[in-house]
Amino acid sequence: MSDFDLKIVNGTVASASETYTADIGIKDGLIAAIGRRLGSADDVIDAAGQYVLPGGIEAHCHIEQESSSGLMTADDYYSGSVSAAFGGNTCIVPFAAQHRGQSLAKVLETYHGRAGPKSVIDYSFHLIISDPTDDVLHNELPQAIEDGITSFKIYMTYDRLIVDDGQMLDIFTVAKKHGALTMIHAENNAMIKWMSDKLVTSGHGEPKYHALSHPRAAESEAINRAIALAGFIDTPILIVHVSSAAGARIIAEARYEGRKVFGETCPQYMFLNMEQMDLPGMQGAQLCCSPPLRDRASQEEIWRCLQNGTFQVYSSDHAPYRFDSSGKLSAGPTPEFPKIANGLPGIEMRLPLLFSEGFMKGRISLNHFVSLAATNVSRIYGMDHCKGSITEGKDADIAIWDPEVTRVVKATDLHDNMEYTPYEGMEIIGWPITVLQRGKAIVANNELQVERGVGQFVPRRKIDCTGMPGRLAPELDPAVNFGVDLGL
Ligand SMILES: [Zn+2]
Repeated sequence: MSDFDLKIVNGTVASASETYTADIGIKDGLIAAIGRRLGSADDVIDAAGQYVLPGGIEAHCHIEQESSSGLMTADDYYSGSVSAAFGGNTCIVPFAAQHRGQSLAKVLETYHGRAGPKSVIDYSFHLIISDPTDDVLHNELPQAIEDGITSFKIYMTYDRLIVDDGQMLDIFTVAKKHGALTMIHAENNAMIKWMSDKLVTSGHGEPKYHALSHPRAAESEAINRAIALAGFIDTPILIVHVSSAAGARIIAEARYEGRKVFGETCPQYMFLNMEQMDLPGMQGAQLCCSPPLRDRASQEEIWRCLQNGTFQVYSSDHAPYRFDSSGKLSAGPTPEFPKIANGLPGIEMRLPLLFSEGFMKGRISLNHFVSLAATNVSRIYGMDHCKGSITEGKDADIAIWDPEVTRVVKATDLHDNMEYTPYEGMEIIGWPITVLQRGKAIVANNELQVERGVGQFVPRRKIDCTGMPGRLAPELDPAVNFGVDLGL
């Protein structure tokens, strides 16, 4: 009998802090040994000249999810997870969305039913909370957190999802008490509506004007308010899909003060800009997402904030709506921009874009790439007991990247259920050629190697905010508030 089920030999292995040459021995789905001359194995992969990295964890994607207006994403858990796997990922954390009136238990049951039989990679969920009733706050949410759903998202905009400031304080109080992380879509709802009305009534309804309808100031106002409200309760938050330098700066300052604030950005804010929306007819609708694409200067600023650590998380925000009546054009063939479905596909391109344009072109180190691909996400979202790095005892979730492979991006080569990609025609250097999940190849030789449903649910741990001291607001501190204890 062999010592290992599989050995990966001669590869360059990288963690979030180190790069070294080593062989990796895998047994029973786990990383069993890292070193040289490890002993015998049933199978051997020679990774000479290649990078052996942790499988990516995609922590912001919309899969088989109804939008608040009832529109279903183009990807289900099969196509979405397959596309993720071909892009070097071994785990996804999509959203399980509560719409108003729904119970969280029912929502989670629905999403478990969608993911379990179809996903080819491991998965968890973030809840979306749109209806924080007493039962949701005091029973359902604490139960979901106990069951390993330790993060959830709230929206400061969109009429059917928005929570007001008071509801945010209620939600933050529950998150603090039970150790959950609140993710926030931070944009000022009134500013967006005001601008949208002004643009449409003055005859500016074409897709490109969407980019003007969500001003940068709407993002920075809401980020500022979210940080103030969460800071008052002293609970951790993560501002998702930050698109502007002004927003990033507010996050950087809050982190400087020790607040429990994390930041995320997405490839669309680094690789695309609003000028690309200036196309004839409805073509620009393909690039409508929220927050919208900004200008070229913003792209450079977002890159800088990724380099300097203001953003710890880099996610695709994959929100696939086809360019037809099932998606972007569901309100008719020529809708004004407020009626165009928001979102871009990108789950398969997230890591190849960052590997090529970040690591291969010298903008970030290989170790920083690993942090953004997997390690930071596993820590922040409570999966680092089993995922996020190549470490003895953890799941053998590994992506082997070949820096010699170059590809020109074509929508027809991607595995999602979309007919376009915003990155069409880009030349990418380096690609994940073999992807292993718990020691089994899920992608090799450009082919999917597994059946639907092999992915498993990952219950997640509570957030660890060590090193982010925050502070107790004096009005809530019995030592200086005449002894009032609100039990928070
Ligand atoms: Zn999203």
